[in-house]
Amino acid sequence: MLHVAVVGSGPSGVYTAQSLVQSGLPGIRVDVLDRLPCPYGLVRYGVAPDHEKIKSLQNNLRAVLEDERVRFLGGVQVGPGGLSPARLRELYHAVVYCVGAATDRRLGVPGEELRGSWSATEFVSWYSAHPDSAADGFVLGARSAVVIGVGNVAVDVTRMLARGSAELSPTDIPQAALTALASSKVTDISMVGRRGPSQARFTTKELRELGALPDTEVVVDPEELALDPEYVDPSALPAAQRRNVEVLRGWAATPTPRDRARRIRLRFFLRPVELLADGGGGERVGAVRFERTAPDGRGGVTGTGRYEDIEAQLVLRSVGYRGVPLEGLPFDPEHGTVPHLAGRVLRDGAIAPGEYVAGWIKRGPTGVIGTNRPCAKETVTSLLEDARELVRREVPEDPLAALRAAGSAPVEWAGWQAIERAEAELGASLGRSVVKLPDWTSLVAAAQTARTS
Ligand code: NAP
Repeated sequence: MLHVAVVGSGPSGVYTAQSLVQSGLPGIRVDVLDRLPCPYGLVRYGVAPDHEKIKSLQNNLRAVLEDERVRFLGGVQVGPGGLSPARLRELYHAVVYCVGAATDRRLGVPGEELRGSWSATEFVSWYSAHPDSAADGFVLGARSAVVIGVGNVAVDVTRMLARGSAELSPTDIPQAALTALASSKVTDISMVGRRGPSQARFTTKELRELGALPDTEVVVDPEELALDPEYVDPSALPAAQRRNVEVLRGWAATPTPRDRARRIRLRFFLRPVELLADGGGGERVGAVRFERTAPDGRGGVTGTGRYEDIEAQLVLRSVGYRGVPLEGLPFDPEHGTVPHLAGRVLRDGAIAPGEYVAGWIKRGPTGVIGTNRPCAKETVTSLLEDARELVRREVPEDPLAALRAAGSAPVEWAGWQAIERAEAELGASLGRSVVKLPDWTSLVAAAQTARTS
């Protein structure tokens, strides 16, 4: 019998568990551990609340976690203050780390610390009700926002800033975020790329959605777009980038009416050099200074020495995620990943028996949710090749006692179901449908009702 621990219950962790049980290996048992009492990782705490179709993927992930060979154990900390990777190795034949890329990248420009300047991750955590989210007041006092970066996260936060309460109220957005966004005075949002439109990282479906927002005008500058030779002639572009360019060309050719309440400006060839204080004596951001760039003919850009300031009382940097080292596991600081060979963890260049990685901590923060399927499959194929050797080692019949001894109070599936019930009750009490519980206290209290009932 093979006992596997999967650390992390986001898409990569759950797809790993799915691949393991689908292998048909007799007697396989998989514990999916998560630091949070709730499963689904970025599907719960990253996918924007108005993306209900993507969120419904939770139903597929749920089916895996409800498989009788799989057990969800939330509230289990791996790393400092919890179980070390060495201890986990003693408890399971194999451990697969699917811990994602937990932090955001920084710009490294002056003024980044000003009030009103945030990472997109902080904003996403807030509207997703992540229990670690301590920040608040994002839109308070802001009329103009700048989003730095042109990836899908940038599109998500731009769209969320432009949404009205009528569209957000039916979602599971926490009540405090709904109230704040409903009274937001942000009317102008600039989403800014340092390279050209043909090099933007967003996907076409997400880009198009900006054009479909109620009472919102999408503004592009045909002259700025045309600084990109591949915008002018997109024929050599790969299909995904060509479709993006076509959408932008459509907006350039047929501007949306000017009578809308909000405007989203898509800007390109501007790289951030400084965040400027608002001059009111406080330490609040008032604008972002960008340097105009020009294509260098090799896919990059060069500075031109010309600058432009864009007004913003709210700045969200959305320049990608980054993996963080897990104490006791090797780490490649350059890529923010764990070194591996087809998913097998490498310690000092040599395979570490029984230790694996999948998802963003394996390949870096790229790709959509579905990209994690083949990624997990590759890792599981390696693990199954090693299984005969791995099962020779004796491990405890049930590691639960050891997890408790290490200070964890695992939240099992019944605990998570109790959280789901509490979120449905909260929603009903607010005249909404399911509304997420936004803090540790309420999550833990809800999970505990399963223990006492
Ligand atoms: P991303 O796709 O890597 O985009 C990062 C953006 O930041 C790029 O435009 C990049 O420009 C820019 N950037 C990086 N460093 C910068 C700097 N110093 N100054 C200015 N701009 C800078 O990252 P992401 O948006 O965080 O998304 C992460 C992954 O999640 C992606 O694979 C994405 O598709 C996925 N995701 C998908 C969805 C969805 O499917 N709906 C939603 C959210 C996220 P350069 O290209 O010039 O480096």
